[in-house]
Amino acid sequence: MGLIFKTLYVYIANLGILVTGIFKSFFKLIFKGLQKLFKFNKSSFSSAKTFFKRSIAFILIFAVLTVSVVYIISTDSKVDAVALTFDGEVVGFARSQNDADHAKNMALKALGLTSDKSLDTKELKTEPYNLKSIDILSDAIAQKIAPDRICVTEIYFDGELFCAVTDRQKAREIFFKQLEKAQKKYPAASVSFAQEITLCDAYYDAKDEKIWSTEQLEINLKILEPLEICHVNCEKTIETVEFETVEIQTNTLFIGDKRIRRNGADGSAYAIDLVTYIGDKKVSAEELMSVPVKAPVSQIVERGIRAESLSLGTYSVLQTTGYFCWPVVGLFTVTSPFGYRSLGNHRGIDISGASASGSLVVAGASGTVTTAGWSTGGYGNYVIIDHGNGVETLYAHMLDNSLMVNEGDQVTKGQAIGRVGNTGYSFGAHLHFEVRINGNRINPAPYLGLE
Ligand SMILES: [Zn+2]
Repeated sequence: MGLIFKTLYVYIANLGILVTGIFKSFFKLIFKGLQKLFKFNKSSFSSAKTFFKRSIAFILIFAVLTVSVVYIISTDSKVDAVALTFDGEVVGFARSQNDADHAKNMALKALGLTSDKSLDTKELKTEPYNLKSIDILSDAIAQKIAPDRICVTEIYFDGELFCAVTDRQKAREIFFKQLEKAQKKYPAASVSFAQEITLCDAYYDAKDEKIWSTEQLEINLKILEPLEICHVNCEKTIETVEFETVEIQTNTLFIGDKRIRRNGADGSAYAIDLVTYIGDKKVSAEELMSVPVKAPVSQIVERGIRAESLSLGTYSVLQTTGYFCWPVVGLFTVTSPFGYRSLGNHRGIDISGASASGSLVVAGASGTVTTAGWSTGGYGNYVIIDHGNGVETLYAHMLDNSLMVNEGDQVTKGQAIGRVGNTGYSFGAHLHFEVRINGNRINPAPYLGLE
């Protein structure tokens, strides 16, 4: 440390000596010059005269130069401008002809005029600080053309004039205050006015009734309620997700047959909606996102593609060219057709064959079992199946304890429902088969491809 200070001291001392030396020689020179100047004699006097002459010439040249420089500087600071004049009097300076025209047109439009002969423009130079914005120029022009008019702010709600005010800022504050109040009511929502508010500058006669004080504006907003508050909320709801139905083809069913392999089940999802209210009334909802809670289970339906005889495990069913499959397995003899016969009017067909008793009776088409049991009317053990669209089939005289279906069961085409027997009003084992359309028993033959 000591060493650094020592070195610094030596350095400063040496610098001091050097500077003092320079000053000393400088003063010596000046002193010598002064001695020469004040030594008066004849020759020195004549040289003084010359000195004065030269000095005056020098001062004159200097003055001219200074004036020129000042002039150049002052004109240089001025810029090109376009003066707007009213009756020859300058109203203000615009930056360009374009700006001047714009300001002029704005003022005329605001006053509802197309032209004014007292208005004119001329190009000149001015200090930059004299240049004014188009808005200010427009105001100044309007003031000149119509001195009795005042600049107001028109307030429009959804394009409809509500009133005019002179204090634009205060009017804006009133609207903001209303929004703030609404925001407190719906703290979690995004709040706005349902109506579009537009503020426009215009010139009105000072006594125009449409000019309201801001107090009047505030009161009329409360009384007339021209504005409605719109708030947008994020809302969560649980929604149902409907299941889909998937169809698969199967040759274990005849064409036209369907069977539900798996029942579908609806799922659920959490939905986040953007809901818009006007006042307290919900006006629209838009789903933002949906989060699955429970996935839906799709329903699987088997659709038959079998056209010919169909093996159903232990037995085969014959598809006829008619609507129904052959209603009994292994027996193909029609022992008694539909129509009149010696025993009376036969309302179905009887099917039998060798070793008829115990043969499987099958559903002619898919449907719902509406009757399965004992008939007091002579059918013995019988089954009725409803196939929809008013079509029913009936199977009669089946063996005791052979019924394989119950009322309410769904059956598919070719499904075994009982066994051929001789119960009820019957003489020998056979199947009595009926087709009913809208309750009328009709000839089954065409429906079994027999005609
Ligand atoms: Zn019969």
